[in-house]
Amino acid sequence: RKIGVAILGLGGYAKGQIAPALQLTQHCELRGIITGSPDKIPEWQQQYGIRDENVYSYDTMDGIADNSAIDVIYVITPTATHRDFAVRAAATGKHVWCEKPMAMTPEECQDIIDAASRAQVKLSIGYRMLHEPNTRKLIQLTKDKAYGELRSANSYAGYAGNPPPADYWRGQRDMGGGALYDMGVYTVNGLRYGTQMSPAAVVEAFQRRQERANGVDLTTTYTLRYPNGMLAEGKTSVVEDYNQLHIEAENGWYEMKPMQPYQGVKGSTSDGKTLGPPVPNQQSIQMDDDALAILNDTEVMAPGTMGKADIAVIRAIIESAETGKEVEISN
Ligand code: NAD
Repeated sequence: RKIGVAILGLGGYAKGQIAPALQLTQHCELRGIITGSPDKIPEWQQQYGIRDENVYSYDTMDGIADNSAIDVIYVITPTATHRDFAVRAAATGKHVWCEKPMAMTPEECQDIIDAASRAQVKLSIGYRMLHEPNTRKLIQLTKDKAYGELRSANSYAGYAGNPPPADYWRGQRDMGGGALYDMGVYTVNGLRYGTQMSPAAVVEAFQRRQERANGVDLTTTYTLRYPNGMLAEGKTSVVEDYNQLHIEAENGWYEMKPMQPYQGVKGSTSDGKTLGPPVPNQQSIQMDDDALAILNDTEVMAPGTMGKADIAVIRAIIESAETGKEVEISN
């Protein structure tokens, strides 16, 4: 049996990555769309053979509860809308896949977790790196303590783009725009999988913001401290290029560089090993993993609790930048 997926939100990532990747999966089928833009419907129906009865608007989507062709609703809308859409998606009784970052606050994340648990459906966050085979080799090195105890870590994710415009959600702070939510979540999650630890505190953080009302951070830097005293550095930007996850351990180092492009994720180690070769399509692996978790009723790899823990770190980074003080992270 294949898992029937309905995509909610037909924007850039849905169109450019997820819908094409669904065609490469073994266990999924793109069967439905949920959209607020009627003009997009004909193209999607034609390109992917989506039947009329599997096309929904945000007003009619609750009716998906009675549609046995759909098993999963994949929420791919601006970050500030994830909570409401994901809670509604879970209430239909369908499994929920929700893009990163999970939501704006830990409280919003908890609402999604509660809705999924009430409906007894699976909830998975779109953290594609956790499914990426070369990244999984790095994770295994940490789990095996292959280079001894960890000493420090850093993670940088940014791209040299134009500052996002004020009339687009990526340029609006209250919609979840800005470097820290959009790209920084990769560094926060990368440090989590790279160290296999949860940080205890943000030691310090700095944000360079657009100088206008509701303006987003263009660059954010931060230092985390772990319960064992280890420090890690993060840096993220929408105007500067960098991309790595680097782990220093007692007996050597290992890293992914670049750590999170769609293609060409590659790692190396201090003793000359390569964590490769390139993987053709991460998102198809991600969705097959998540489909198998549904089919076999097993744990998902990127649960809501992980998405929430990362948002707690992001909020603590913002608080530290605003107060100039160290901020403890409540998990
Ligand atoms: P986008 O701007 O290209 O598309 C957003 C879509 O949401 C549009 O179709 C828009 O019409 C729709 N939408 C629904 N409600 C809306 C509202 N209230 N305001 C504005 N638009 C609304 O954005 P995107 O790049 O597709 O990003 C969507 C989500 O996917 C974000 O959460 C983003 O972080 C995530 N994303 C993840 C990855 C990844 O690699 N995992 C990559 C890109 C984006």
